[in-house]
Amino acid sequence: MDSIEARPVFPNVEMNLVRKSAPAVATVISNELCMAGKSASFVKHLVLDVTGTPFENRFIAGQSFGVIAPGTNAKGKPHKVRLYSLACPGWGEDGDGRQISTTPKRLIDENRPQNNNDDADDHRLFLGVCSNYLGDLKPGDKVNITGPNGQRFLLPLEPELHDYLFLATGTGIAPFRGMLMELLESRAGPCRSRIDLVMGAAYSSDLLYHDYFLALEKEHENFHYHTAISREPSEENNKGLYVDGLIERDFAYFAPALANPRTLMYVCGLEGMRYGMVRLLASHKLGAGYFRADETISKRDSAQWTASDIRRHVKAGARSFLEVY
Ligand SMILES: Cc1cc2nc3c(=O)[nH]c(=O)nc-3n(C[C@H](O)[C@H](O)[C@H](O)COP(=O)(O)OP(=O)(O)OC[C@H]3O[C@@H](n4cnc5c(N)ncnc54)[C@H](O)[C@@H]3O)c2cc1C
Repeated sequence: MDSIEARPVFPNVEMNLVRKSAPAVATVISNELCMAGKSASFVKHLVLDVTGTPFENRFIAGQSFGVIAPGTNAKGKPHKVRLYSLACPGWGEDGDGRQISTTPKRLIDENRPQNNNDDADDHRLFLGVCSNYLGDLKPGDKVNITGPNGQRFLLPLEPELHDYLFLATGTGIAPFRGMLMELLESRAGPCRSRIDLVMGAAYSSDLLYHDYFLALEKEHENFHYHTAISREPSEENNKGLYVDGLIERDFAYFAPALANPRTLMYVCGLEGMRYGMVRLLASHKLGAGYFRADETISKRDSAQWTASDIRRHVKAGARSFLEVY
């Protein structure tokens, strides 16, 4: 059972102030790569001015917003809304809630048939519609946005009552940048809780906002930044490390935080990270509060739980928060 004191209380947030039928128009301030090094992927830190729109000062870290790419899809219909996490705190990039930011990654793939009539031999480059639209934006360009969205992937009302384990892969880092700014750089002074951020990336050049997190760690002794690189050999492992692999390796360090009922666990990015964490917590009998496995699988060896088992039979507990896409 979760302890009553550990249950976080969340702020009431505003949602859907702007809908697709009447989007707000934001203006691009800047759009710069934010990876640690040269990489095969392209991820930007995009800053948008929302002055005079319903967004101004009415969003908080952890929420996302929608983007409507111009043009139409293959059926001639306007593109659907794609969501992007806010990467800024509630006071925005500018300190006055007039500039929001996000972390779009260009989706680049090979073409695959989507319908029965599509050519199965067409392997030309496929560029994701909205992510590449965002990637191409220049200062001064206008963008149609909707939202804000999201009411659960948020920091609690009283941050000092909790400790934090933030787990990210790729652009899943975006909400944690905003949350860490809210926790550690607020005008009210820094939160003194224990905060661990684990960032997972394929290569160290793919780490995002890396210098910022290193600087934050230097400045705040209660904040610890860890990186799990999956496709570069680590000291003890030729195959590299995923986020859950790093926590298992450094279990003596993470165990007290995981076992502490103050700790809230936030997972953002690739879904696989969640499966790894569920298995890890179950194997150490530390799942209480983070998830509940129903009786279909709870008696079985957790190491054998498949992704499908976890999707179907494991529900989030009061102290874990999930945003995967
Ligand atoms: C809450 C939330 C927050 C998010 N935050 C972020 C964020 O901060 N940063 C970020 O980068 N993303 C984020 N996303 C994901 C984002 O919403 C988009 O899904 C992503 O940018 C891809 O959109 P797209 O329009 O570029 O791709 P689409 O054009 O929509 O393509 C989507 C998928 O369809 C496949 N596909 C479609 N047609 C073809 C074809 N012909 N051949 C091959 N494959 C095809 C693509 O490979 C891809 O997997 C978030 C999603 C959610 C739900």
